Amino acid sequence: MTSAGSRFATAKDVLNQIFGYPDFRGQQQDIIEHVVEGGDALVLMPTGGGKSLCYQIPSLVRDGVGVVISPLIALMQDQVDALRTLGVRAGFLNSTQDFDQRRATEAAFVSGDLDLLYVAPEGLSTPGTQRLLERGRIALFAIDEAHCVSQWGHDFRPDYLGLSVLHERWPDVPRIALTATATSATREEIATRLQLTTARHFTASFDRPNIQYRIVAKNEPRRQLLELLRSEHAGDAGIVYCLSRASVEKTAEFLSDQGIAALPYHAGLDAGTRAANQSRFLREDGLVMVATIAFGMGIDKPDVRFVAHLDLPKSVEGYYQETGRAGRDGLPSTAWLAYGLQDVVQQRKMIESSDGDTTFRRNASAHLDAMLALCETVACRREQLLAYFGQSAATTGGCGNCDTCLNPPESWDGTVAAQKLLSTVLRLQRERGQKFGAGQSIDILLGKTTDKVTQFRHDQLSVFGIGTELREAEWRGVVRQLLAAGLLAVEGDYGTLVLTDGSADVLRGNRPVMMRREPERVRPARATRSAAPAAELPPGAEPVFERLRAWRASVAKEQKLPAYVIFHDATLRAIATLQPTTLEQLGTVSGVGQNKLAKFGQQVLDALAGE
Ligand code: ADP
Ligand code: ZN
Repeated sequence: MTSAGSRFATAKDVLNQIFGYPDFRGQQQDIIEHVVEGGDALVLMPTGGGKSLCYQIPSLVRDGVGVVISPLIALMQDQVDALRTLGVRAGFLNSTQDFDQRRATEAAFVSGDLDLLYVAPEGLSTPGTQRLLERGRIALFAIDEAHCVSQWGHDFRPDYLGLSVLHERWPDVPRIALTATATSATREEIATRLQLTTARHFTASFDRPNIQYRIVAKNEPRRQLLELLRSEHAGDAGIVYCLSRASVEKTAEFLSDQGIAALPYHAGLDAGTRAANQSRFLREDGLVMVATIAFGMGIDKPDVRFVAHLDLPKSVEGYYQETGRAGRDGLPSTAWLAYGLQDVVQQRKMIESSDGDTTFRRNASAHLDAMLALCETVACRREQLLAYFGQSAATTGGCGNCDTCLNPPESWDGTVAAQKLLSTVLRLQRERGQKFGAGQSIDILLGKTTDKVTQFRHDQLSVFGIGTELREAEWRGVVRQLLAAGLLAVEGDYGTLVLTDGSADVLRGNRPVMMRREPERVRPARATRSAAPAAELPPGAEPVFERLRAWRASVAKEQKLPAYVIFHDATLRAIATLQPTTLEQLGTVSGVGQNKLAKFGQQVLDALAGE
């Protein structure tokens, strides 16, 4: 349906001409048609699924300006620049602007000279902005990152609660809320709080087939990370998540010392440094951002090739959101997590010592348990991840692109080992009235006469030396898995081991315990099925691709734009493969729209010709 005054006839025209894409993806077409016709929508789609087109295209097709509410103030300039490069008339209103910029944007909005206007949620609740919106013609309201309305999620923004005014003041303007947060509880909360219960809900598959999920046993995390980067991701852009600010700093320094370009990001850095580091990460090729979870929401850099976690995320939701920042362009990417005994001890301790009430703690424990189950599974990681979000995998019998599918871990009957470990803890407690951390129990089982063993005469215990059949690392694996399964617990500041209700069952022999054997050394994984065929360039195309990348880097620098705003890697690869000689041929490549063709087309042809 077209209304008078819009610049484009159909959604498909906009897709082809402006964005340069041949076809819609997944549910995009249904969503776009629904909104173009004035319907409300709630869209759940994974990161990289293509949510932006779902409101950008209807904004161009419908009469008036599309108003986008987004919490990502620091990224608005980039989003607007990217749209302008496509030839879309976009602007934003937020607190970073000066008076003149604001006046100019407001005037453009009122006179209908904008296609899209981005506003921060806090701006929307001011009477001034509301009066402004009354003076223009609004095509739709898009509520981006809609999970920010959820008070239980990690990204809660109080101003989002005020967004129900949109419906009351502009009942005829369609609203589309979008999020990548998948659980049904959050979805219900969004629908209720934003008064979108009667909106049509669109839920996409949350599978990210191009991401290879890997979870490894942590021993020397920084060394392990370095090896991953050197062997598989040399020169790639990526994000490394750490739990604490201190470890962010240390890790960034470590990587830099090893010759890898890395920057830190955490809430303890001043705003200027944070903004500068974020901007460099977006603009330069191949930078590694070492960050706490303060970093990442809305980062739409498409060529993040890996996301590495040096510490255990607190929940599967968090893990999924963070790893989801890899591979938005659909090319093969790695999600890598190093996880060890200390993570379990530390996180359990954090929950125990938190100020939250019992409900909070129960919640946090349940989240942690689900995360631990994902770490300890011998089944396909992807199947387990999707099952957590109530979805099933596209294939059965494994995805072929996660560590457990690529290197199936053996499981072994760990009942006797569990009994030995648990009875050591029991004896220390019963016979000596003592509690110790994991290290002491393991030393006892291995029969080590350390100073501490001698001091406490633990060599007199009947369990001393009864566990020499396993190596120390294997015993740590046993402790970790018992903790993960709730068959053992930690308490206090020193993380001492204590028995749980479940321990008794194991000790009595009423409960067998199957364990996961860590492969001695994990071979670098190679996907059996290629997730993205575009990854491999035909023979001879590699140098062409590199030449195009060099050209892109110089244009990006000159125009002060992130490189991917000019063209994505996937588009450059397609150009390198096709090697067009005319503008017309170049225009057929996915990602080359009219405006970019006019602006950059000749330069691309020149670069191809080697000039
Ligand atoms: P999301 O906001 O859901 O994370 P984006 O809207 O940023 O995802 O889209 C992810 C990437 O996919 C972007 O680089 C976008 O240009 C690209 N994309 C989206 N829709 C299509 C399509 N129909 N065809 C080709 N590429 C697309
Ligand atoms: Zn798998």
